[in-house]
Amino acid sequence: MTEPASTFHGRASRYDVLVPAPADGSTRARLGRLELTHGVVETPQFMPVGTNATVKALDPADIAATGATIILSNTYHLYLRPGHERIARLGGLHRFMGWDRPILTDSGGFQVVSLGDLRVIDDDGATFRSHLDGSVHRFTPEHAIAVQEALGSDIAVAFDQPVAPSSPRAVVADATERTHRWAARSMAAHGRPDQALFGIVQGGLEPDLRADSTRFIAGLPFDGICLGGLAGDETPEQRDATLDVAVALLADDPRPRYLMGLGSPADLLEAVHRGIDLFDSVLPARVARNGQLWLPGGRMNMRNRQFLDDPRPVQDDCPCPLCRSFSRAYIAHLFRANELLAYRLATCHNLTFTLDFMARIRAAIRSGIFPAVMPELRLRAGRSSGREAAEKSA
Ligand SMILES: [Zn+2]
Repeated sequence: MTEPASTFHGRASRYDVLVPAPADGSTRARLGRLELTHGVVETPQFMPVGTNATVKALDPADIAATGATIILSNTYHLYLRPGHERIARLGGLHRFMGWDRPILTDSGGFQVVSLGDLRVIDDDGATFRSHLDGSVHRFTPEHAIAVQEALGSDIAVAFDQPVAPSSPRAVVADATERTHRWAARSMAAHGRPDQALFGIVQGGLEPDLRADSTRFIAGLPFDGICLGGLAGDETPEQRDATLDVAVALLADDPRPRYLMGLGSPADLLEAVHRGIDLFDSVLPARVARNGQLWLPGGRMNMRNRQFLDDPRPVQDDCPCPLCRSFSRAYIAHLFRANELLAYRLATCHNLTFTLDFMARIRAAIRSGIFPAVMPELRLRAGRSSGREAAEKSA
């Protein structure tokens, strides 16, 4: 490999941009290598979500076999159950869940703020009722960092106040200001030397607020920049425009850029094109558990009767355990019979498809042909994101 185009040395990470975005402006897509305490992550990359210290229905060997090199786990959920102090006593999150590769923990901001009537936000933090038992808890930036330090993830994330993309301007402005103060406090509170710390840009869909937030967060010595407050109720066009504002300001910034919460292959492709390096979403696994399998150019719902007599594999060239050993008829039967194996096999397939898609994107960037093969990759990704939002909320 030739010399990296840029190298960023973080507090517990190193990010090399191996192939920068081309000078002709045909794409902002770039190829990178993120070195973390528990291993290396090639970017652009997708992180499967392990909410409760498990990617639902998969064990760590299954997760690795999908091609995943890093997963996300949720601070809010682990804080409530089984408790971050218990996980720390048991040797940290990696040992607890038997996953020895990189883990990113979110800050809990999204879950806490999503509780609606169950939470109250003030300038110091957020008070909320547990969705499990109604007990009252409080998260401040300092506490969110302490919980993540106890969990021992490779990447911790600053505590923020996300708002729905379509929120009124005054609401977005207020939450963005608070996010900035909380970012500085998260930074000051963080001390674990083997853990990287990312900051979150907010600003909704307002170009000036998004630009201010990007400048503010990028001005702090974080190890990576998260773009929050997207992958919600915005249109694809609004998302693209917002990414163009933020990424243009980060063009010369050597740190990784992470768009939180985006998960359909069509959406991932467009966001890579606009310069995003990291993604996470529950979407591939969630729709798999409902019987929807992703294929090159389309989708199949295995609850559909037509598959009950179909002896073919779900996807011919897929290396996942479902496609290697079983027919469409078998997985269709498992779903109709509510057999647990259906969840594992379907999840393995959709994550394998998603991570293979990211590998294809990386290969195209590496070869310098990404803009040229985008039409082909769009076809492979299948349905675009307009209809995805409806599915996500379903
Ligand atoms: Zn498969």
